Amino acid sequence: MEWYAAVSEQILKKLNTPETGLSQSEATSRLESYGYNTLAQAESISLFKLILHQFTSPLILILLIAAGVTFLLKEYIDSAVIIAVVILNAVIGFTQEVKAEKSVQSLKKLLVAKARVLRDGHEVEIPSSALVPGDLVLLTSGARVPADLRLLYTLELKVDESMLTGESVPVEKTYQALSGGKKVIGDQANMAFMGTSIVNGRARGIVVATGKNTILGGIAEEVQEIGLVKAPIQEKIESIAKVIGLLVLGASMALFMIGLLAGQPLKTMFMVTVAAAVAAIPEGLPIVVTIAMAVGVTRMARHSAIVRKLPAVETLGSTTVICSDKTGTLTRNEMTVTRLYDGYDTYTVDGIGYDPTGNIYSKNNNQDEFAQDRLLRLLEIGLHCNESQVYQENNFYKIDGDPTEGALIVSASKGGLYAEYEKEHSEQLAIIPFESERGFMATLHQLKEGRYILLKGAPERVLGMCLDTDNLIEKATDKAIEFATDGMRVLGFAWKRVSESQEDLTHADIVSGFTFAGLQAMIDPPRTEVIKAIADCKDAGIRVVMITGDHKVTAQAISTQLGIIQMGEPVLTGKDIDEMDDDLLFQQTKTVSIFARVAPEHKVRITRQLIKHGHIVAMTGDGVNDAPALKAAHIGIAMGITGTDVAKEASDMVLADDNFSSIFHAVKEGRIVFDNLRKVIFFLLPTGLASIVSIIITLVMGVPIPYLAAQLLWINLVTNGLQDVALAFEPGEKDILKRPPRPPEEGILSSLLLQRTVLVGLVIAIGIVYNYISALQAGKSLEHARTVAVTTMVFFQFFQAWNSRSEFRSLLHIPLLSNPFLFYSLIFALIAQIAFTYLPALQWIFRTVPITGADWLRCILVASSVIITVESDKWFRARYSKTAN
Ligand code: ADP
Ligand code: MG
Repeated sequence: MEWYAAVSEQILKKLNTPETGLSQSEATSRLESYGYNTLAQAESISLFKLILHQFTSPLILILLIAAGVTFLLKEYIDSAVIIAVVILNAVIGFTQEVKAEKSVQSLKKLLVAKARVLRDGHEVEIPSSALVPGDLVLLTSGARVPADLRLLYTLELKVDESMLTGESVPVEKTYQALSGGKKVIGDQANMAFMGTSIVNGRARGIVVATGKNTILGGIAEEVQEIGLVKAPIQEKIESIAKVIGLLVLGASMALFMIGLLAGQPLKTMFMVTVAAAVAAIPEGLPIVVTIAMAVGVTRMARHSAIVRKLPAVETLGSTTVICSDKTGTLTRNEMTVTRLYDGYDTYTVDGIGYDPTGNIYSKNNNQDEFAQDRLLRLLEIGLHCNESQVYQENNFYKIDGDPTEGALIVSASKGGLYAEYEKEHSEQLAIIPFESERGFMATLHQLKEGRYILLKGAPERVLGMCLDTDNLIEKATDKAIEFATDGMRVLGFAWKRVSESQEDLTHADIVSGFTFAGLQAMIDPPRTEVIKAIADCKDAGIRVVMITGDHKVTAQAISTQLGIIQMGEPVLTGKDIDEMDDDLLFQQTKTVSIFARVAPEHKVRITRQLIKHGHIVAMTGDGVNDAPALKAAHIGIAMGITGTDVAKEASDMVLADDNFSSIFHAVKEGRIVFDNLRKVIFFLLPTGLASIVSIIITLVMGVPIPYLAAQLLWINLVTNGLQDVALAFEPGEKDILKRPPRPPEEGILSSLLLQRTVLVGLVIAIGIVYNYISALQAGKSLEHARTVAVTTMVFFQFFQAWNSRSEFRSLLHIPLLSNPFLFYSLIFALIAQIAFTYLPALQWIFRTVPITGADWLRCILVASSVIITVESDKWFRARYSKTAN
C-alpha cells in the first residue's frame, strides 16, 4: 500500500487502529510479531577479540621471544616464569578491559530514545524501541522521528530530512492524501521518516513501518549511534606510553651493551635486559586511563550527569564558565501564580504548587462593578490559551505539559473556573503554540459569547499588540516591572473578537487590535541546592552565567537570590545584543553574567565571545534551536527531562534531573579523573626508571646485577598489577574544588611531574643499590642480597603509591582508608612479598632466601626515604609558590 496516497480513514482501518490508539495488550502482541523497532543490534563485547588483543602488544612479543630463547638455553624455570608472566599479564589485561568495555556499554543504555504515543486513549511515553505499526505517535519540534509515520495531523510542521535525502533545507509537511501517482521519498509530503527530525511545529502520525522495514533500515546498516569516541586524552596517553616504551627499549639496548662491555655473560644480560624492559614499560597505562575515565563517568551518572561523549570527561575538569538556563535548571520550575493585575486592580493569590485550593484577594476595597468580569476574563484566557493539563494522582496534583501553563490552570480554578467544565462549553479551533523566539501563544476559540483570539505571552510582546486607552500600556508596564522586581515570571493576556466565519489563525492575525486583559505573575523558587553549588563554583574559580528568556528584572532578582551577581550588576538583553557587533559583545562578556530575553541565536554569539576570552565553556539547552549553541560550546549540556532529541544529540552530556548542581558535580568528577591519571603516571614512571638505573649503577660499579630476570618480572606483577589501577579509583582530594581550573593548555605531563619522576627514580635506584651493596659487604650471599634488593624495591613502590595520592598535599592530610582498593592492594603486595621470601616453592622459582628481621626493617627504613623526599618536595614547592605570589 502506498501510504501517502490513502486518506486517513483508510489507513486507520488498514492498520486496525482505533482513534484512541492501540490498546496496551494489542501493542504487546504486535511487538511479538513485528519485533523491536531498532536497526542494528548493539554490538556485544567480543570476548575473543579482547583475548586476542592481550597478545598483540609488543611487550608480550618480547616476552614470548625471551621464553623461546630461555627454553633453547635449557633455562626451563626462567621460561616457565616468563610464560606465567605472559598469561598473568593477559588475564589481568583481559579482566580490566572487559570491565572498561562493560561500563562503556552500560552508558549507552542510560540514554534510551523515547516516543510519545497514544495508547488506550492516554498519552504515554515509551521507549522508541517498543513502537509497533499502528501506534499513534505525537511529535513536537526537536523530536527525532522514531519510525516511519504517515502523518494524520500537522501544525506548521517542518522536518529536516537531510540524513535521508541530503537536502539541508527543512521541508514542510501536510497530512492530506497525495494524488498523482508514484512519489519519491523527498516528495512524500505527508510522511515522516525514521531518523529525520522535527524542526518546527507539531504533528500526529501513525506508524506504518518499524525497525529494519523503515526507509532508513533499508538503506543504512549503521545509524547515528551515540558517539562514544576515544577521548583525546586517551590518545595522548597512548602515545605517551608508546614514546616511553621506545625510550625504554633504547635504554635496554644500551644496558645490554654496557653489560656485555662490563664482562657480564651474554645469557644473563639477555635475561636482565628483557626483564628491565618489562619492568619499565608502562604497559598498563592505556588501560588504566580507560578505567579512570569509566570510573569518572560512572560517578557522574550517579549524580545525574550522563556523559555522551568521552572527551567531555577531560574537558569538564577544566571548565571555566558554566552558562545555564534559568527556568528549571537554576529554579525548580514549579510555578505558582501569586499576583494578578487586571488593568485596574491588583490581587494576591494564596496556596502553593498545583493544588487548586486557595483564594484570590483584592488589594483594593472599593472595586467597581466590572471588577469580577475583568478578573474572570483574565483567568479565562489563561485557562483556554493553554496546552497543558493538571491532573490528580494519589492525592498529588501533577501537570502534563509546561509548568508555566499549569500555574495558569490552577489560578483559574482558584477563581472558580474549572478546566473540564469550561473546555466542554467552548471549542478550540486553531492554535499558534508558544515558542521562545516568538514570546507569545495564541488560540482561536469559540466561547459562549462568540469567537475570540486569545493571546498570552511576555508582557511587552502582548502590550505591543494592544489598544492603548487611559494610559493603560504605561500602567501595565510599570506593574509588570513591579512584579518582576520580586523575581516573578510575568505573563500578559489579551483578547480580540473576530468574525464567526474565521476558521484558522495566521501570524497576520496576531499583530494588533487586541484588548488588554491583564497580567499574571508567578513565583518560581530557586532550587535550594543550587545556591550552594553556585557558591562552590565561585570557590572553584568557575564563573556562572545565567541565560534566560525571562524579563531582565526577573532575571536580575532571581540571580541575586541565587548569588550569581550582586544587586545592581549589569544585565544584557537580547535586544542589547542585537545592537552590538562582536567586538562590543566581546568586551561586555568579560563582566556581564546575566542575559535576559535572549533567543537561542544569542546563545551562540555569547558562547563564541566567551571562548574568545580563552574560557572553557559549558552551555545548557533544551530546544531544537539550542543545538548550534550546544555544539559551539566546549561542553554542550542537554536537559534530560525537558530536552528535545535534537538538543540531546547535539550535546556532550545530558542532565537526567535538569539540575544545575549536577553540572557542578560533573565538573568535580572531571577534575578528579584528570588528577588520578597524573597519580597513576607518577606512580608508574619513577619505579620503571629506577629498575633500569639501579642495574646501570651496579654494572658501572662492577658488582653482580641486583635482580634476576624472574625477580624483576615478579616485582612488575606484584606491584603494577593492582596499585596503578587502584590509583584510578582515588576519591578526589578535599581541595579539588578550591583550586582554580586547570589551564586548558596544560598537558597531562606537567614539568612538576617530570622533575619529580627523575628525583624519585634516582632516590629509589640509589636506595636499592645501597641496601644491596650493604648486604654484600656484610658478607651475605648473593641470593640474600638480591632478596633484600627486591624487597626494598617492593617497599619503595609501596610508599610511592602513597606519595602519588596527592600532587600538592602532604600525606598527613589524606585519610589512610579513603581509597580502600588501594589499601587492600598494598596489603596484598605485602603478603605476596612475604610469601616470595619464605614459601619454599617461590624460593625455588625465584631463588630467594629468608632474610632477617633487621633486613626487613632496613628495607622499610630505606624505602621510606621516598616519602621524605616527596613530602619535602611538596613542602618546598608550596612555600616557594606562596612567596612567589
Ligand atoms: P525561560 O524558559 O528561559 O525562562 P522562555 O523563553 O520560556 O524563558 O519564556 C520567556 C517569556 O515568555 C516568559 O517570561 C513569559 O513571559 C513568556 N512565556 C513563557 N512560557 C509561555 C507560554 N507557555 N505561553 C505564553 N508565554 C509564555
Ligand atoms: Mg521556557
